[in-house]
Amino acid sequence: MSDDGKTRVLADGVVQVFLPLPFKPTIINVYLVRAGDGWTLIDTGMHTGDSRRTMDAALAEHGIAPTDVTRIVCTHHHIDHYGTSGPYRDLTHAQVLLHPLEAEKAAGTATATGESDAWNARLGVPSVPPEKRMPSPSLAFGTVYSPAIPDALLADGDEIPLGGGKHFDVVWTPGHTPGHCCFLLQPDGILFVGDHLLPKITPHVGVYPGGPENPLGDFLNSHEKIKRLDARLVCPAHGGVYEDHRRRASQLIDFHRVRKMTMLEAIRKRPLTPYEVALEAFAISPQNRFQVMAATSETLAHLELLRLEGRALKAEDDGGVRYRAR
Ligand SMILES: [Zn+2]
Repeated sequence: MSDDGKTRVLADGVVQVFLPLPFKPTIINVYLVRAGDGWTLIDTGMHTGDSRRTMDAALAEHGIAPTDVTRIVCTHHHIDHYGTSGPYRDLTHAQVLLHPLEAEKAAGTATATGESDAWNARLGVPSVPPEKRMPSPSLAFGTVYSPAIPDALLADGDEIPLGGGKHFDVVWTPGHTPGHCCFLLQPDGILFVGDHLLPKITPHVGVYPGGPENPLGDFLNSHEKIKRLDARLVCPAHGGVYEDHRRRASQLIDFHRVRKMTMLEAIRKRPLTPYEVALEAFAISPQNRFQVMAATSETLAHLELLRLEGRALKAEDDGGVRYRAR
């Protein structure tokens, strides 16, 4: 651990950097990996003055000039992961790599709109006055989200040569986002997992307009995929590094099975809208719009998986969509 506690050397040429976030979780871990004669940065933090200063200090502390960073690989497009990719690309002239489904999302953020009335009505989400709604991402984020246009696109199973006999295996792990990727540093066996495999919390997995129909099924399959890898150390984007990725993947699979059963119980008595199920399954305040929207889309992901498993039925009319146990 460094004197100011902002970096930690995990292995020879592998540095964890703790960057501040203005919301919970309050820290994102990004990682610097040295191989050949350059460094690769995994994820970038949010584009705030605080985060930039912390990163500048981390690079200086480890004697890394900005142009020594030759590659920036990102796990997904979210603001805390990809938010500074544009400015860091300008600073370092590094090659930026991202999965195409994430590149699409990053590019669309500037023009993405806020809540959809039709979507809300369908899921049973109460309508609220415009000032109480979730703002559009561009309005909410402003300049703290400065995404690069990637120089190259990642695909499942890619090997990214890093030089010096090392490479990353790209492991596509859709679920939290459609193009989320993990990176396995070889031959070291160090697995960088972004938000897919967090040690203490489970990432948000929700159904959104125009997104994948079964993101929770994708997320669970991605955990089965992770269990087939061999790794000796897991490096998450939030929380401490740990060992035994298989154990944590199994815990997360179990967690969602239990949550799914809670929802199945809720729809045994009578058909319910996704919003009504969310109120039963999550400790949310109906006044907290962020909680309402996140919990409803997460509930819908569980209900859709139950339907695809043949355990729930969906009925839809002008009053919206309702699920019941079969
Ligand atoms: Zn995320």
